[in-house]
Amino acid sequence: MKSYDVCECGAPLRLIERPTPKPAGTEILLKVIAAGVCHSDLHIWDGYYDLGGGKRLKLSDRGVKLPLTMGHENVGEVVAVGPDAVGVKIGDRRLVHPWLGCGECAVCRRGDEQLCRTPFSIGVFRSGGYADHLLVPHPRYLFDIGNIAPERAAPLACSGITTYGALKKVGPVLQEEPVVIIGAGGLGLMCLALHKAMGGKGAIVVDIDPVKRAAAKKAGAMMTIDSNAPDAAKQITEATNGGAEAVIDLVGASRTVQLGLDSLRKGGKLIIVGLFGGDITVPTPSFPLRAISIQGSYVGSLTEMAELLDLVRRKGAPDLPVGKRPLAAVNDALEELKSGKVVGRLVLMPAE
Ligand SMILES: [Zn+2]
Ligand SMILES: [Zn+2]
Repeated sequence: MKSYDVCECGAPLRLIERPTPKPAGTEILLKVIAAGVCHSDLHIWDGYYDLGGGKRLKLSDRGVKLPLTMGHENVGEVVAVGPDAVGVKIGDRRLVHPWLGCGECAVCRRGDEQLCRTPFSIGVFRSGGYADHLLVPHPRYLFDIGNIAPERAAPLACSGITTYGALKKVGPVLQEEPVVIIGAGGLGLMCLALHKAMGGKGAIVVDIDPVKRAAAKKAGAMMTIDSNAPDAAKQITEATNGGAEAVIDLVGASRTVQLGLDSLRKGGKLIIVGLFGGDITVPTPSFPLRAISIQGSYVGSLTEMAELLDLVRRKGAPDLPVGKRPLAAVNDALEELKSGKVVGRLVLMPAE
């Protein structure tokens, strides 16, 4: 099998050939059809997250080892199954839930494998889909994509489940009050589309880029606001009739987190998803006095993945721009993403 691996942080991925694995036990071998190129791959490739104040969270300290085959948004066709893999057969086309845990601890048994203390996420801690083949340890990580095109289904594994998981945290108020979404890039448009599919009341989208704001407006945002405007928080407060019940920050920079906090009404909730990096100082009395909460949201659970696919099969896949690329163009795709010029998602198509 062929894969393109990170052998050195920040250096071009290298083509590696190795024997194609044979699935044992509950394992399943997929031929990769579509592998999304996610923004978080840029962090994994660099080898760190920015924690603000010059501090960095090194991925090697989290247990990420090189060489690594990245790629956590994968759709594949089953080409071989282990003797104990039930409910899946050769020829099935499946989306791979990549957020694996140990599978044995109490957290994993509750279905929250994405929150396991010993993560084994595909494309992060174990080999991912920047390859022609992908080995998945258990059929519970495979989801039927129905009639959805593989390149449209692939981003559901990260960008889809991440925004779905964040929208779920808003709770029933989602159908009653407008939600503020900070960031109108690929993740923002996905969030907007799923918000609509979930029957959301309305979305106010905040971004610094007028082109992205226009895209959000076209995609159905009830209103857009320039986050660089000095009165951005005031504009959000007015648009939400006294402050937002829920803000989803898909950027996660110091400025956007601050803006989110400043825009909440009493009892409001800020849900942070983005990993841009930075830090903020919050006066502690504002938590009880304003009864606000800040919650982090990291991808989603197996249950949420099942719900998401059910939603998408019923309402259709989010209609986001997709750019297909051959597997061999992975380095160009990563550079293109890094330049900030990608609208929507780039998806590698190793089987084409
Ligand atoms: Zn676990
Ligand atoms: Zn991702």
